Amino acid sequence: MAHFYRAREPLSGVVTTIPLLSAVSLILQEMKAADPDRYAAADITHSVARPHRQGLRPTDTSPLRVSRSPWDSAVPVLRRAWARNGGLSPLKSGRLASTEANMCRTQQPCPTLGETPAQWSRFSLLPRPEWHSASFKHFETAVLSAARGEIPVAQASLRLVQDRDLHDWCDEHGLWAGELRVATLGTKTLPKYNGLLDAKKDPPAAMVEAVFVRDGYRCRYCHTPVVSGELLKALHALMGNDYFPRGPTNRSNSGIARCFTAVADHVVPHSRGGATNLENLVTSCGPCNYAKTDYTLQQLGLEDPRLRPAPGGWTPLQGTLGALRDQAAVRR
Ligand SMILES: [Zn+2]
Ligand SMILES: [Zn+2]
Repeated sequence: MAHFYRAREPLSGVVTTIPLLSAVSLILQEMKAADPDRYAAADITHSVARPHRQGLRPTDTSPLRVSRSPWDSAVPVLRRAWARNGGLSPLKSGRLASTEANMCRTQQPCPTLGETPAQWSRFSLLPRPEWHSASFKHFETAVLSAARGEIPVAQASLRLVQDRDLHDWCDEHGLWAGELRVATLGTKTLPKYNGLLDAKKDPPAAMVEAVFVRDGYRCRYCHTPVVSGELLKALHALMGNDYFPRGPTNRSNSGIARCFTAVADHVVPHSRGGATNLENLVTSCGPCNYAKTDYTLQQLGLEDPRLRPAPGGWTPLQGTLGALRDQAAVRR
């Protein structure tokens, strides 16, 4: 894939890009016509990367973002090239457009998020699909096994996590879940806030941990179990990139990291005068935090999560942190 990209590095401007895309499209169509079975699963318009079109029926059980066909590797490369060439939107033209056009944010209303306000949860912006919970179970098994030094079990369990689906679900519905609500409710813009802001926006590590412990490491909005960033780091050190890939950006990061990392969320946004203290901070999963952005509960039509007790009923994985680090040290 990298080779493909480098070979065409001097691309400049739409003029060279469009013929290239057409050529690639034609070649791939020919390949598909010659061997339809092989490429059936790779048709962009029916790809797993569009879970909500398919009732979130995942087919990729690998934690790696493995490319299964020329389509899968060609599209991101071409999209990047496109973006570098003056930002011609893939939404606007051509066959590749369908990959983006199927995204949640261009579909209003979104069946996954609820088509009318009456279908929205009062507690959570993002209804969790069943496979999300199943994937967490596999992830949990992986962590517990890894902490015991049962590496093959941990590897097999990580392979069962629908990592790519988690990743895409977060992308497709995460940010849009909040935007959809404020657009529908007409609450997107609030009068400028002129009150005081807490001088400290980011809570100190000890406060963050106290919030997570108090909430039993579960998202106070959607109740999904979550783990600390340091636990994921330790797991990564032990399992390596093949089984638990991590990347520095949202796009390159694993679905596990994006969906299951605990975040301390200001219930009243900091930009609206919310304090950075135990009272105003709750544990949130990545997608709930991502979706909420800087909106207030009122803007989003959500109830105050602090009025519901933390769900409990789960033994946080944080207790395995020391064992994970020990296992990684032994194997180094
Ligand atoms: Zn959607
Ligand atoms: Zn959540």
